[in-house]
Amino acid sequence: MNTTYNFSAGPSMIPKDILTQYKKEFYNWRNLGASVIEISHRSVEFMKVVEECEKNLRFLMNIPSDYHVLFFSGGARGQFSAIPMNLTKKNQLTDYVCSGYWSNAAFEEAKKYCLPQRINVIKHNNNRINILPFSEWKLNKQSSYVHYCPNETLEGIEIKEEPNFLNKIIIGDFSSTILSRRIDVSKYGLIYASAQKNISSSGVTLVIIRKDLITSKKKLVPSILDYNIAIKHQSMFNTPVTFSWYLAGLVVKWLIKQGGLEEIEKKNEIKANLLYEKIDTTDFYINNISKKYRSYMNVPFYLKNEKLNKAFIKEALSFGLYALKGHKIVGGIRASIYNAMPIEGVKKLINFMNYFEKKYK
Ligand SMILES: *Cc1c(COP(=O)(O)O)cnc(C)c1O
Repeated sequence: MNTTYNFSAGPSMIPKDILTQYKKEFYNWRNLGASVIEISHRSVEFMKVVEECEKNLRFLMNIPSDYHVLFFSGGARGQFSAIPMNLTKKNQLTDYVCSGYWSNAAFEEAKKYCLPQRINVIKHNNNRINILPFSEWKLNKQSSYVHYCPNETLEGIEIKEEPNFLNKIIIGDFSSTILSRRIDVSKYGLIYASAQKNISSSGVTLVIIRKDLITSKKKLVPSILDYNIAIKHQSMFNTPVTFSWYLAGLVVKWLIKQGGLEEIEKKNEIKANLLYEKIDTTDFYINNISKKYRSYMNVPFYLKNEKLNKAFIKEALSFGLYALKGHKIVGGIRASIYNAMPIEGVKKLINFMNYFEKKYK
């Protein structure tokens, strides 16, 4: 068996069925004699892709009708700026809950546009990383929204429970957990995600925003990040990243065919638990995040003997396990197991971990 499995954190694996389909139709899409990347975003055919993508996404995520579904360029980092630019005035207080690298990055960017308050929710006890319960998050009474990151992609920390702060607008950076499980969209003011983890190739950025948060035009928002303009132009004020949008449409359809998010969630839970069980049965591998907050999408771990890291990554590759190197900021190993990763890939990784442990213990 020579299948290689791709554990990249992003851009990351796309379901094989979809790669096969796109390869098949790439040169002559819908019999137009042209590729989907060669046609106008305003053509009847492409508009249909866009409409279907939104319709299917609304169905898949159960998005209420009082929410806009928008697509931007500029990634999640673009939204780090767009959110405070669109939703705050200068000197307005906002809460930025920090649980890792990405939520900190959002906080740092927000400083340019409003007065974000940093709320640390990480707590270490007995060498384990924990997250404070919601009731202990020290939110400011006057803040206009609460921003948090439900899945920290680098650290592998996931907050799976949904926050329920009365009278607070909740904004979530769902980049690495969107579509991996069911979420109650109505709990949020704004949900956003860059595409390259669980939606598509890099390019489009999904923004789901409750309609009443859209207020009058703000003067200083660049047009391509302006929510009012995006709504008015159906996310096509400038030329959108058509390929990534098209691919997102295929992924959403694929997820519906898999049985929707309830089924996907079950599979993801099984995959992640298999891997964490392996890590926990030995002291050769270490993951020090408290069980409740372990990510189902990004599974980081360390080798007790860190000198073996390089050998692990190299031998894993020759075993057919690609991109297991942890992010340079945290080091170690990271297996990203998004929706597209089949359980066989996880099992193959576990087999390799067993083999490697025997060899070097
Ligand atoms: C990848 C990632 C980002 C950055 O996305 P870009 O598209 O590179 O801007 C932000 N937040 C989280 C949680 C991510 O995983």
